[in-house]
Amino acid sequence: MLELGVADNQMNAAAKLAGLKPEQALKMISKLSHLLEDSKPTLATAELERLPTPHSRSFRTRQSAMVYLPKLDRIGRLVLHTLGHSGIGTVVVGDNTLVTESDCGRLGYVLEQLGKPKLGILREELKNAPLKIKLDNRMNWADYADIDLALVVSSGAFQPTDYQRWQSLGVDHVGVCFSDKHVLISSLVYAETPCLSCRELNQWLADPCRRLVASQVAGHPGLHNSVSILFAASLTSQKILAAIDGYSTGNDVKLHVDGAIEFEAAVINAKCGCQQLQQEI
Ligand SMILES: [Zn+2]
Repeated sequence: MLELGVADNQMNAAAKLAGLKPEQALKMISKLSHLLEDSKPTLATAELERLPTPHSRSFRTRQSAMVYLPKLDRIGRLVLHTLGHSGIGTVVVGDNTLVTESDCGRLGYVLEQLGKPKLGILREELKNAPLKIKLDNRMNWADYADIDLALVVSSGAFQPTDYQRWQSLGVDHVGVCFSDKHVLISSLVYAETPCLSCRELNQWLADPCRRLVASQVAGHPGLHNSVSILFAASLTSQKILAAIDGYSTGNDVKLHVDGAIEFEAAVINAKCGCQQLQQEI
């Protein structure tokens, strides 16, 4: 009966079936708790079962994938953990900084890790995951073309410096932009789709003041809170995995500060040079 598992609210019935008093059954379960814990499905089982079928081929696809994360900040480390435990084989990171006080606290590093390299800490945390974490310091420009998918994280507004590299190399990317009103997670951006700049220019059309505000808020720290970071990390990881597995990553998604979720299909902005660039090439 213990092997089959006993739901908490059926304890009395289960004890009766075993010919025991409820308190005797509870005592027995507490003595056998280490065995019962082991028989619970682990998180790894759930990860494997969620892989598209056939599981082994999907796992190999994920193992051969290379994803780029720009920073090992709060969202970066959450995404790295998720990708590592979901079977992504290689993550290249563009961050060789040390942990500072502003990296500690909520969703960040612990104070004992102050002054230590973030990369070393995460390699240690993920040592049991089937993942290689590489620093991009010895990569040539052309090596970046081997990246399957890159994450772009911006604050306030998408800035060309964040995504130009991926756009010019034709590397697919997913953009995250934190603002004071919402966090936006883009659908997968690739050559034929609206780019991240199109999204910014579309906002200029909708709100003429945006043109002036954009440059002021771009890169502004402090536009994210725990909820927006967790939401963005979760959805971004899901979109990256879906893209690697060969599925569509849907529309752009916005989580507003009041909890409302908005889905939006991005459109190409006629003033953006992204599609002209494609034709010229
Ligand atoms: Zn564009």
